[in-house]
Parts: sequence; C-alpha cells; structure tokens
Amino acid sequence: MSVVIIGAGQAGLQLADSLRTEGYDGKIEVIGEEFGVPYQRPPLSKDYLAPGKEAAPLPLRGPSFFLDKHITLHAGVRALTVDRPERTVKTTEGMLEYDHLVFATGARNRMLSCPGALLPGVHGLKTLSDAEALHMALPAARNIVIIGAGFIGLEFAAAALAHGCNVTVLEFAPRPMGRALTPVMSEWFAGALRSQGISLRLDEGIERFEPGTDGRVAAAISTSGASYPADLVLVGIGVQPNDTLARDSGIETSNGIVVDETLRTADPAILAIGDCANFPSAHSLGNLRLESVQNATDQGRHAARTILGTESPYNALPWFWSTQGPYKLQMAGIPQPNDDILILGDQSEAKFSVLCFRQGILAAVESVNNAADHMAARKLLSAGTAITRNLVESEGFTLKAATREVSLVSPVP
Ligand SMILES: Cc1cc2nc3c(=O)[nH]c(=O)nc-3n(C[C@H](O)[C@H](O)[C@H](O)COP(=O)(O)OP(=O)(O)OC[C@H]3O[C@@H](n4cnc5c(N)ncnc54)[C@H](O)[C@@H]3O)c2cc1C
Repeated sequence: MSVVIIGAGQAGLQLADSLRTEGYDGKIEVIGEEFGVPYQRPPLSKDYLAPGKEAAPLPLRGPSFFLDKHITLHAGVRALTVDRPERTVKTTEGMLEYDHLVFATGARNRMLSCPGALLPGVHGLKTLSDAEALHMALPAARNIVIIGAGFIGLEFAAAALAHGCNVTVLEFAPRPMGRALTPVMSEWFAGALRSQGISLRLDEGIERFEPGTDGRVAAAISTSGASYPADLVLVGIGVQPNDTLARDSGIETSNGIVVDETLRTADPAILAIGDCANFPSAHSLGNLRLESVQNATDQGRHAARTILGTESPYNALPWFWSTQGPYKLQMAGIPQPNDDILILGDQSEAKFSVLCFRQGILAAVESVNNAADHMAARKLLSAGTAITRNLVESEGFTLKAATREVSLVSPVP
C-alpha cells in the first residue's frame, strides 16, 4: 500500500507522522514544492522579525525524522497533475503511484492588482524566503504601510513598531481582524493598536503605490486620496486555498477542496486536510475552511485514522493564537454574528476574555493575555460542557474553576 501526500507543511507532515504512530507500515511519500527542510510558519511573522533576533527557521520535525520513520520527502518538487483512474501523480521529478492521495497543499497569498503592486519594496509574507526578505529590510525601514488589518498584517505591525518604524495600516473593512473576531474584541484591538502609536486607517483601501526616483515604492495612495510615505509595504489581504490541482482532477472545490466529515473527497481514495480543505464542522453553522496550526495538525491526525479504516467524524475544537507585540490573542471555538457576549476580566489592564453564548450556552471564547481562561475554555468546549450565562454571572465564577467543579456543569445534550 502507498500514501502520497501533496504538501510538506504542517498538515502533510503531521499526517505522515501520525500514519506511522498509528501503525501504518506501507510506503509514505511527501511532495513539497519548497526547497529545504519543512518549517513552521507562525514564527515568521513574530520572533523571526523581532529586532536583534537571529533569523533561523524552526523545522517542523527533527533532523532524523524522515529517515527514522521511513518517509520519503520529495523536496523542491511540484505535483503537476493527478490521474485518478490510474492512481498516479505526475510531478516535476517523475510519476508516483498511490493507493491513498492526500491534498495538504495549504493556501497562497491573495495578491493586490492595483498600480505599483509589483514595485520593489512591496512584500507579502507566507514563506521563509518572504520572511528572510523582510528580516533584511526591516532594520533600514522608516515608514511602513501595511495593507490589511488581519492577523498577519497586525503581527507585522507589532514587529515594525519594535524596529522603531512609523506604521500605517490601511483596512478596507470597518474593523481590524473583522472576519474572525467579535466586534467587541475588534474594537478593543483598534484602541490598543492606536494607543501603541500605530496609525490604523479603517474603511480605507489602497488605490495605488507610487515609486520614488530610485524606482522603489515611496508612497501609498489610499481610496480616500491620502498619500502615506512608504519605504516598505506589507500586503496581508488574506489567502486563497491551493485547490486548482484537485479541481483539475475532477474533485469538487468551493473555497477549498470539499471533504466529508471523515476528510475524504467524493473519491474515497483522496482526502484533503489543512488550509486547503473545506469541511463540515459541528463548531460552526456550516462548512468551514480554517487557516490554523490546530486545524492542520488535528486534521493530519484524523486523516491518518481515516486511511487506516476508522470512520469517525472529525470534530476537533478549533482554536487559534496570534501574538501582536504585548498582546497574546487566543481563541477557542468560532464566534458567530448573533452570539450573546459577556466580558470577563479587565479590558483596561489588557487581560480579559470575551465569552460568546449561543442559545444560552458557551460556544466560543476570545482571550487577551489570559492563557488560563483560554486553556479552561478549550477544556470545557472540547468536553461539550454546558456553561450557561447565569452560571458565568454567579458569584466567584471562573472558567478555570469550572473545569474542576464538574458538578456545576452538565454535558450539552
Ligand atoms: C506568517 C504566518 C504566520 C502564521 N501564524 C499563525 C499563528 O500564529 N497561529 C496559527 O494557528 N496559525 C498561523 N499561521 C497559519 C498556519 O501556519 C497554517 O494554517 C498552517 O501552516 C497550514 O498548514 P498546511 O499544511 O495546510 O499548509 P502549509 O503549512 O502552508 O503547507 C502546504 C505546503 O504545500 C505546498 N504545495 C502546494 N501546492 C503544491 C504542489 N502542487 N506540489 C507540491 N507542494 C505543494 C506549499 O508550498 C506548502 O509548503 C500562520 C501562517 C503564516 C504564513
């Protein structure tokens, strides 16, 4: 038997690892278009860019992983086409046969198409080489413009601030991190970013970039007509799933590769996991595509069990973190627009949590600098314990205490 995994990132390597842990002794081949040792992406927008930090990538697995586990890594190799009837993958290196094929192809940065978007000095941040370029450029930069107030843009804003730069963030939407956060948390971050000295321009998009006499980017002109000086620009306007290869092989795609609750596509020999997969989630109101380490690793583990014959549904609790200078944001569950909100802790001290109730039961928690609340929320939400708003409002309640006093809570019916 042989498993071919396209994508040597967080999800692909977790799957390879878990297959061995679960006792699979067939052939495992991982195809990865990036050269070198597969690495972790989260530090690229955090520690990797901090002033005075050595720029060293963090490998996803130890040096002897592939040898010890008998896993073949085809690094610097791109999967080109999939022949489903023949069960083969054509790559830049040759042909591979599979019994099971897994797309773990991740996502690519959405690109700007406005005038000047390709000027030198305009960067994206997805890969190690993107981070290397930014690591080199940051110490000499003065005026930085960031397009997009999402997680990557704001993590980069914190790094730029730490380098002593003037930072302007242009965000087309009315609030930062608006796709993922509750309005109350977005608003708190807007205030916190501004009080740190970041110029956060909401409801303002990018119109064009203008070059200086040296041909490099020199200014960003916004949709309001304002001109912001810029010797370095970061574009962080989200990602698109790498699903073209799957689509071209006749697999259904819709904002990612569509899979069922076991992470299989409609072709039972083909699965999709991580950033590229669109899956049904019990934690959301419908299908979901998540861009997080948790989702990639949990789906990698689950896909291994699916390949080995377990038919259980994937229902891991989504959780996520983002570190933005002094603020550690952690989320458990997925807030929905109509959730009933309650704030625990002290917003003025930058240590608090936003609790989201759905039909009276706790369904998601966002925390700032409050790891205890986050860890407790993960425990309670994963266990499916029914924490009501009344209970949270009772004297002396804390999420951490609730994890110990199981008699207080009952499982969600
Ligand atoms: C800068 C940055 C910071 C982040 N910070 C956080 C964070 O703080 N917290 C968090 O939870 N998540 C964070 N993330 C997101 C997290 O890293 C991703 O969700 C996770 O890496 C997804 O794993 P994946 O395996 O699905 O995709 P990836 O890890 O991106 O791996 C996919 C791989 O597939 C390769 N590939 C694609 N097509 C082909 C092909 N045809 N042939 C061969 N190879 C191919 C790609 O080149 C890529 O290497 C961050 C991401 C970035 C970029």
